[in-house]
Amino acid sequence: MKWSFQALYDGVHPMADDLGRAWPADSPEAAKAGKSLANGMRGILYYITGDLEHYGKSLGLPGYRCGNPCFACPCDRRDMPWFELRKAKALWTHHVYVFATALAGLCALFDLAFVSIVSVCPDWLHNKKLGTNAFFTDRCCGCLCMKFSQQARLQRLRWRK
Ligand SMILES: [Zn+2]
Repeated sequence: MKWSFQALYDGVHPMADDLGRAWPADSPEAAKAGKSLANGMRGILYYITGDLEHYGKSLGLPGYRCGNPCFACPCDRRDMPWFELRKAKALWTHHVYVFATALAGLCALFDLAFVSIVSVCPDWLHNKKLGTNAFFTDRCCGCLCMKFSQQARLQRLRWRK
């Protein structure tokens, strides 16, 4: 994947395969090597997304059960608690990782110059407290159900007339 994303970023067909071996001289890959991939267009790995298990197992990021569960800062349970949100006491806010320095060596994708901590999209379904979302969803669904059921009742009444 790292080789593919690098080629996409460079916008040219690679000069060698993913193991660094030069293409055989008479191969189609050798004929295309160094030429534009898509008429000068380039691509970039914009988001890495998945659930927390994927982050831990595939990307080497901290697991949600360990003492330092956050991949974006060195927060923990005792000295720099992630649940401390008061502005003066939330120490972890002063230590949020900026680029891939903290991620170096975890996964080959983090070696790419254009991949950083901000490329990892938090898994909101597992990280966010559902309190406000649950309330909002409940209210919206409730309103929609009431509205549609009321409309359906009115429509049935009109049918009978
Ligand atoms: Zn954090």
